Amino acid sequence: MEKLKKCILEEGRALSETVLKVDSFLNHQVDPDLMYEMGTYFKKYFEKHGITKIFTIESSGIAPAVMTAMQMNLPMVTLKKQTSKILTGDVYQTTVHSFTKGSDYELTLSKKYITEEDNILVIDDFLANGEAALGAVRLVEGAGAKVAGIGIIIEKSFQPGRKMLDEKGYDVYSLARINKLGKDLIEFVK
Ligand code: 5GP
Repeated sequence: MEKLKKCILEEGRALSETVLKVDSFLNHQVDPDLMYEMGTYFKKYFEKHGITKIFTIESSGIAPAVMTAMQMNLPMVTLKKQTSKILTGDVYQTTVHSFTKGSDYELTLSKKYITEEDNILVIDDFLANGEAALGAVRLVEGAGAKVAGIGIIIEKSFQPGRKMLDEKGYDVYSLARINKLGKDLIEFVK
């Protein structure tokens, strides 16, 4: 997606060789027009996949996911990051290791918002090691539903997540794919 790549080049900042900061349009301030356009791309790619619901992971996936859900006329569910296990039995939970925080959280989904008939599109802001996406997949499949695909805003293709999800057979569609990060360097996959 050319407009996204332009925003990344103009406003993104590589904090290291592995972390990209995009606070001005995605992770802190949000650019609604850009989020809407992301929705048109996800809709175009996934509209024939028989999707019933869109799932995202709080909090930066919410804006692009809701814009996609609006355009696809589907419900959107936010998977919550809880600090501890909930023992009431009305939720599905799985432990995920956070790439940016370096700690674990319990990715949490209420049993009310998924059925075995669901075919879920998972949307997230970044793909690095694939822990977050795989956590969402575990919740969906643990509930007996299917993963229709995974939509990513910014994939860091030099990290293991993409390859791992491809090898497991998931349909991953990323709007921008980064090949290399470094001081004053953001290089996209050609
Ligand atoms: P993964 O689970 O694939 O290792 O990492 C994905 C999650 O970590 C995303 O949900 C995102 O919140 C965060 N993340 C990973 N890499 C970056 C990055 O370079 N910049 C920012 N802002 N977040 C990242």
